[in-house]
Amino acid sequence: MPYEATVDKQKNPSHSVDFLSIGTIMKARKALLEWHSVHGRKSLPWRLNHSPYAVLVSEFMLQQTTVTTVIPRFRAWMEHFPSIRDLAFAEEQEILSAWEGLGYYSRARRLHGAAKVIVTDHDGVIPKDLETLIKLPGIGPYTAAAIMAFAHDMPAIVLDTNITRVLSRWSNMNDPIDTSLGKAGINAIAKKFFPHSESRTFASALMDLGATICTAGLPECTTCPLQKTCRAIDPARLPKKSPRSVTTKLVEYRACFQREGLLYLEQSRGPRWEGLWILPELGNVKPVGRSIAQITYPITRYSVTMKVHKVEGGVPSRLRGFSAAELLFLPMPSPIRKIIGKIPSMSGCRETANKS
Ligand code: SF4
Repeated sequence: MPYEATVDKQKNPSHSVDFLSIGTIMKARKALLEWHSVHGRKSLPWRLNHSPYAVLVSEFMLQQTTVTTVIPRFRAWMEHFPSIRDLAFAEEQEILSAWEGLGYYSRARRLHGAAKVIVTDHDGVIPKDLETLIKLPGIGPYTAAAIMAFAHDMPAIVLDTNITRVLSRWSNMNDPIDTSLGKAGINAIAKKFFPHSESRTFASALMDLGATICTAGLPECTTCPLQKTCRAIDPARLPKKSPRSVTTKLVEYRACFQREGLLYLEQSRGPRWEGLWILPELGNVKPVGRSIAQITYPITRYSVTMKVHKVEGGVPSRLRGFSAAELLFLPMPSPIRKIIGKIPSMSGCRETANKS
């Protein structure tokens, strides 16, 4: 990998950016913009007209969810709730239903909350300053910066996973990215790299480079526009992270009450799946025989195995029975929808598994 003469490839302290000469930065910015004008992902649906509402929705959806998963759901969402007012005045159940497949339903509720505040307190206009944005439900420093850059094209330092990876490699920053030293280091580098104008273009370009060339794992340095200024010695090992905590295995038991073609569910009151329809926990109910369906899914540092047991006898009054057709349109968490699809005798339920 060739390097520019002004670049010193010694390991640099992360909080110092003295090694970044203005000439290096200008050269890197120019190469990046030229590359982006040809190879940028211009067809992403939330980039088509830079509508602030579209940016707001996409930023909530993209938290912890991949672009590929988000695209079809984003399109469906914009058809269902074409404006921030449509979203603000919608029923929560309708919103949870439209969110299905994206997981982490608390994001949908916070997006709804943010829309209500924007309509009530800001006349439906998405604020243009960081301080006001950060006060909205579900909007932290990253999302506020992303809205400033992508929606309003105003100065902002946007640091998502892709941009962090590109800049930590480009500067060969070796401090773990999840430590305060690493965060300070990457912030200092980003502040130097981002110009005071064209935030939208630069953030998009760095993001696209991280998504297509400087990818997790082995980057394609030979086709990278930043190659001539890049300091990375062993890019596949960057950014560094603190050692991972061990995954803990858990088992949860759910009850299957099936009567005359109906499956009985309850509406969750718990914090994890509040408002969504779920199979009830088995609790102290005595199951009949072995589990009839089983799945394993990850959540944060846990690997959860969910087992469903058939239960005979009276159906608790808090449960409601649904036909397979009704289940299709019922908001429910992805793991519950998946396991319902695996219950052998629930005619039509397998079809519901495909919806999420
Ligand atoms: S792809 Fe390679 S050359 Fe480009 S920024 Fe990443 S590590 Fe550097």
